Amino acid sequence: MAGRYDAIIIGAGHNGLVTACYLAKARYKVLVLERRYIVGGACVTEETFPGFKVSTAAYVNSLFRPEIVRDLRLADYGFASLERIPSSFSPFQDGRYLMLGADGDLNRREISKFSSKDAENYPKYEEMLSRVASVIEPTLLMTPPNILRPGIGGMWKMLQLARSFQGLGSHLGEAIEVLTGAARPILDRWFESEQLKATLATDAVIGAFASPSTPGTAYVLFHHVMGETNGKKGVWSYVKGGMGGLTQALAKAAKDLGVEIRTEAEVSKILIRDGQAAGVVLKNGDEFHAKKVATNLDPHLTFEKLIEPKELPADFLANIKRINYDSASLKINVALSELPNFTVCPGTDVGPQHRGTIHICPDQDYIERAFDDAKYGRPSANPILECTIPSSVDSSIVPPGKHLMSMFIQYAPYKLKEGTWDDHREKFADRCFDILNEYAPNFKKSVIARQIVTPADLEKTFNLTGGNIFHGSMLLNQLFLFRPVPGYADYRTPIKNLYICGSAAHPGGGVMGTPGLNAAREMMKRW
Ligand SMILES: Cc1cc2nc3c(=O)[nH]c(=O)nc-3n(C[C@H](O)[C@H](O)[C@H](O)COP(=O)(O)OP(=O)(O)OC[C@H]3O[C@@H](n4cnc5c(N)ncnc54)[C@H](O)[C@@H]3O)c2cc1C
Repeated sequence: MAGRYDAIIIGAGHNGLVTACYLAKARYKVLVLERRYIVGGACVTEETFPGFKVSTAAYVNSLFRPEIVRDLRLADYGFASLERIPSSFSPFQDGRYLMLGADGDLNRREISKFSSKDAENYPKYEEMLSRVASVIEPTLLMTPPNILRPGIGGMWKMLQLARSFQGLGSHLGEAIEVLTGAARPILDRWFESEQLKATLATDAVIGAFASPSTPGTAYVLFHHVMGETNGKKGVWSYVKGGMGGLTQALAKAAKDLGVEIRTEAEVSKILIRDGQAAGVVLKNGDEFHAKKVATNLDPHLTFEKLIEPKELPADFLANIKRINYDSASLKINVALSELPNFTVCPGTDVGPQHRGTIHICPDQDYIERAFDDAKYGRPSANPILECTIPSSVDSSIVPPGKHLMSMFIQYAPYKLKEGTWDDHREKFADRCFDILNEYAPNFKKSVIARQIVTPADLEKTFNLTGGNIFHGSMLLNQLFLFRPVPGYADYRTPIKNLYICGSAAHPGGGVMGTPGLNAAREMMKRW
């Protein structure tokens, strides 16, 4: 079997679908090839337990760019964001709890329970993050200059960026610290209450193989506060129908624009003729040809699995092999017969304690100790739990009266010192359940079913190298000019007409759609 297209997109993650839509909107003939039975990659809804629509991997949204929602009319295809008010709930063993959200008065009241000084500082801390965002957000939709061959255009972009940093004036130092430093010293300087600091610090380690005292984690924290929901900055939401509500809307938009999408179509080789990408070969031998090819896969898969080493410059391949995929994230999806009844905030009817992210993490030292285990190849004895219950605002994803919980857990190192994840999975999940049960004693008996997604499963099911949820770590040496590797941050590769359109490219992982949009723009230049 063979076919001819203007562009082939390898992988139907949300980014691949975004690239496909923008190309098709410009009237190119596009084919998307996806290895799984379903599109969406790590942004997907699956009926894991009968009647329960589970967001198997990604579980909350705020980063997805509103420009893309508008351009592709995703609301018309069923995409809707459901706000979470408040956005977080942290119960503590001393009988207190902390709720935070977009409401300044609520934040002041809640933080005052722990420190009136912190309550005063919190809006100033948020202003500081907004100042940094004012410089960084415009870069999300920009193609980073090629640091090795910047040309006049690249030099101009760098100059403009330097100018916008200059515009921060006396705030430049704090911005540089956020972009390069560790989260913990920043939080320690701003606040005194461990309860507040621990709640904020969890954002700094999401998906990272790092503790809040590791340099680079302040950016990870910042990355997680950069988005918006329905025009409200920093507000995270559930997607109606689960995260697949977004990718199904993208797939419908793509089909209406004429994109051909094939599932269960695993690409095994990128065809290269005279140094140029010419098409792909599937695992079953089918061949498809195109003028341009874009890969939604991480660089290890693209350049070490789908392309012969002889086709690539040795120094480029060496840089690709240097990319860090360390990870320690595990997810448990749980079907529940009733909502958790928290000792510090009782009730099994939906309440504010159920709507946002439930942080189980008493203080920053707890995170450090949890990471120490991971550093030495052990699952954390006392892991950090981030629980969300999307059914608290979306009854369409569960049978009547039932609920769904997503537990995102750190640290569960991909590289174990002893045994495999098959040896550890049930015991580790039991430990997580015991911890949550200490805060909500009805939790364990309310469990109907559970799905444990270990780092090994993330690699096997979603093809995420090393279980890394971002297609490569989001620490400074792998961001902006250097993502995925220096000299190739402009979505191009050493192979002519082969582009990178997924999270491996700037601005990185998370359900943003930006790498996909930026790559489409580059692919269309001079075409
Ligand atoms: C457990 C988990 C929780 C997360 N939570 C959040 C969250 O709450 N919010 C958030 O914003 N982000 C979250 N993330 C991160 C976010 O989901 C990812 O960074 C993002 O979805 C990646 O999108 P992508 O399109 O770049 O790549 P992917 O989603 O990885 O898509 C790549 C696609 O390529 C396909 N593929 C792979 N190999 C082949 C091949 N050889 N041939 C054809 N197809 C192939 C894959 O099956 C996949 O569909 C989470 C990720 C994980 C894993």
